[in-house]
Order: sequence, then structure tokens, then C-alpha cells
Amino acid sequence: MPDAQDLLSSIFGFDAFRPGQEEIVQAVVAGRDVLAIMPTGGGKSLCFQLPALVRPGLTVVISPLIALMRDQVRALQEAGVCAGALTSGNTEEETEAVWQAIETERLKLLYIAPERLASGGTERMLRQAGCSLIAVDEAHCVSQWGHDFRPDYLRIGELRRALDVPLAAFTATADAETRAEIGQRLFDAEPETFLHGFDRPNITLSFQTKNSPRSQILSFAAARKGQSGIVYCGTRAKTEGIARALTDDGHSACHYHAGMDADDRRDVERRFQQEDGLIVCATVAFGMGIDKPDIRWVAHADLPKSIESYYQEIGRAGRDGAPADTLTLFGADDIRYRRQQIDEGMVPPDLRVADHGRLNALLGLAEAQVCRRVTLLGYFGESPQPCGNCDLCEKPPELFDATTQVRKALSAMLRTEERFGIGHLIDVLTGTATEKTARFAHDTLPTWGVGSETPKHQWQAVFRQMMGLDLVRPDAERHGALRMTDPARPILRGEESVTLRRDSIKRAERRPAVKQ
Ligand code: ADP
Ligand code: ZN
Repeated sequence: MPDAQDLLSSIFGFDAFRPGQEEIVQAVVAGRDVLAIMPTGGGKSLCFQLPALVRPGLTVVISPLIALMRDQVRALQEAGVCAGALTSGNTEEETEAVWQAIETERLKLLYIAPERLASGGTERMLRQAGCSLIAVDEAHCVSQWGHDFRPDYLRIGELRRALDVPLAAFTATADAETRAEIGQRLFDAEPETFLHGFDRPNITLSFQTKNSPRSQILSFAAARKGQSGIVYCGTRAKTEGIARALTDDGHSACHYHAGMDADDRRDVERRFQQEDGLIVCATVAFGMGIDKPDIRWVAHADLPKSIESYYQEIGRAGRDGAPADTLTLFGADDIRYRRQQIDEGMVPPDLRVADHGRLNALLGLAEAQVCRRVTLLGYFGESPQPCGNCDLCEKPPELFDATTQVRKALSAMLRTEERFGIGHLIDVLTGTATEKTARFAHDTLPTWGVGSETPKHQWQAVFRQMMGLDLVRPDAERHGALRMTDPARPILRGEESVTLRRDSIKRAERRPAVKQ
């Protein structure tokens, strides 16, 4: 059987499951009857598409939305999956291709509209095609009291009984009545039901800008001495460095990354599972299949890849429901690194746009101005109240109208032809003479020193937030020189204003005798 995690990245191009997806995928792959309720945009289609690829045979997908079906089929085909639809919108060639794929037993996913169930041949066709799973999208259409009622949905239960295969039903409609009706009409026995919000209220959320990352991690760990934790690091070298620093600081700590040999890795996994209070400093290779309920904290020494990765990684903490803490460090370098990773990756341009979007979502969370949980869950389609269990609820950030600063920064970038990075731009803005400002005669620019009233560390925060808001992007081909993006134009023209957070992070306390 192909591995679900491998397919997630190789076929779908995602680096992590979204909240809820993994459990649903596991249940569907295992062949259990499933009813999953997820908010719109939560990522339901993956929950049947991925199992369809893992399981032998054909999955039939019943959906009332022809345009959506065609979209999904196109996307699957582009990813190299043998998928097709039989809808009224098909051309003759499309229909012919679907039949051929069925006859040669290559077809993995077949989308049909419910109307097709009314014609007698469908059941026979599905049986012959080796149908081994029925997926029902928009399952609330089976509810006679709802406004989306589709009479043909009532035939789905019959189809399931006739084919005797598992059924997975999906909907975004969560009210109890509709749920009961779906259960009754589509299933014989109670299906395994997934209806949990995505919130993990016992996990505290906090972010800090990086200023001395190692001491920031050390003081976070020091406040949680003797508890099991994970420190996620961006590089293998860093996992070793931080593990050493933690050990020197009196913790029980070790490192873990994909470059270690299998025995050593297994050894760390075993120790983590069995010992109390071990800290593992790891790359993202650590975590898959870790099933330890009492991980008390997770820290990110570097910014994760996307908001999905972030959620999955912090979600390893506090599975037992007891309080657990998280801390994520981020800085302008992380943003530059992650952007570059996307730009230099092998993925086609339109997928790159989506990857930048998922990174932007994480940066939006990092630079959030209100409750982090509201921001995080909002991205996944939920709208909770401010949580009282994140750093921003605890201490709301100080905001200021940064329109003038942002315009000055953009102007400094444009006057220097978008060829310089943050450090140099700050020198220009604050009128700090260096060899470089002299060499390029930047001390003669009209922008020279126009930002001297703002301290340098605040300028750092302004640039970082501008990157976070995607107003400027580092140019991968020009060693991180900043370029202005389209959303910045109305600000430059004075048509829009920007509110930013004041840099409130105090320097982390220096801890004594930290070896490199
Ligand atoms: P729904 O049917 O629940 O409304 P979709 O299945 O259309 O949602 O997914 C919504 C969006 O989320 C799509 O753009 C999809 O590409 C994206 N998505 C789904 N799963 C993931 C994931 N694991 N990581 C990143 N993006 C995802
Ligand atoms: Zn909050």
C-alpha cells in the first residue's frame, strides 16, 4: 500500500495535514464508515482523494456540484492521478476516456452526479469497475428538511448496501438534526463521526521575534525544567547545537534528524517515549508516528514552513488535554529563507503562489495584532472568541499607525533601485554613514536620514512586518535585496494606511556560559 504521508507531498504537494485530516484519512483508509463534518475550506476533498489512492480499486465520489467536480478531476489529472467524471457537462471524448479507464481498471476516482444513480446501469457499472469505496460530498443534501435537498441522494444508501463497500460522507453542516438524518439515510450502523473543532484549548500559543534565539529557547526550557518537550530546528546542525546547550544547562536533551542512522533515531524515539522530561531537538523528521500524550511543550527555534506545518507541529503537545505551552521564534531571516525555498523549489509557478499564500498565513499569525487563536482558527474556517490563552490575549501588543514609516521604507528601496537588503536600507533611513553608503553615494539621496527619529530596532520590526504582510519580498536572485509588491503601491501613493506592532520584545536575558 502506498504511504499516505508520502502521497500527501508527492501528489498533493502539501507538507502537512490540516487539522482533522489525518484522523479522517486513517479511518477511511482502514475501511470504516465515516461521517466527517469540517468547515468550508477545511480541506475535505483530500480526506477521500488520498484514501482513494491508498486503497485498491475505484472510489466513486458523489457530488452535486458539477463545476467543482470538474475542477477536482482536472487537478487530480494534472497531478498524474487517473480520475474522471461522468456528468452532463462531458464531451463525448471525455466520456469515452472514462469508460476506457474503467475497462482497463486504471481509474482510481470516478465523480458522478447524484442524478446518475437513478439510471439502473450505474450500480452494475460500479460493481464491474471494482468500486471499493463510496465518498459522498455535501452529504447534507440527503436531508429532506434542508434547503439543499437532492432526492437522488436518497438512493445512496441503497447503492452502499448493494455494493457492500464502506462509505465516507462529508459536509460542512454541523447541526445535530442534519447529522442524525445523514447517519440514518446513508448508513445502517452508526458511522465513525468526526466533529471536533480544530481548537486545542489547552495549548498556549506564543511567538517571539528572534534576537538571541539560543537564549530565548534556553529560558523557555528553563521555565519548564523536567518536562518533556520538542525543539524544532530548521537545520541539522542547529538540532545538535541546541541539544548541547540544553544539556550544558542541566537538561536531559538529545538531537534527532534524518541524517542520523536508523538505529540512533529509533533509540531517540524509544527514549522519548519512555523517559520523563527528555527534550528532543529535531528537524521536522521527528514527529511522524510519535504517540506520546504528555509532551508538555513545543518550541520552534525557526519559523515553520506553512501554517499547516505549524498547527501540526504544535499539535503534538498536550494530547492528554493537560496544559501545554508553545513558543515560535521568527525573524526576517526566516521569512527570507522560506520565501527562497519556495521560489527555488521544483514546483510549477501557480503552486508557488499557493505556497507563498500559506507562508503569508503563518506570517500573519506571527505578526498578529489580536488573539492568535482567532487568527489561527480563522484560517481554518472557524471563528472563536479571543482565547485568553495566548501571548496576545495576555498582553495586547502596542500598535501604531506606521503609514509614514512604511512609505519612507518603500521610498528608500525604490531610490536605491531595489538592490539592497534590510541592513543597508536602515543605514540609509537613519543616516548611518558606512563604507557602502559612501561607495554608492546613498548619503546624497533625498531619503538619507529621513527616518532618524525611529530607532534601528524599530526599523527592523517595520521591515519584518512589511515582509510578513507581503508588502516587500526578498529577491532570491539578488541575495535578499527587497522588492516592492503590488499590495504596497496604494500605501506608497498614500491611498491606504498601515497599522503595525511596535517592537516590544526586550532583549532576552543573556544566560551565562552557553557554548556554541
Ligand atoms: P472543502 O471541500 O473542505 O471546502 P477543499 O477540499 O476544497 O475544502 O480544500 C480547501 C483548500 O485547502 C484547497 O485550496 C486545498 O488545496 C487546501 N488544502 C487542503 N488540504 C491541505 C493541506 N493539508 N495543506 C495545505 N492546503 C490544503
Ligand atoms: Zn488569545
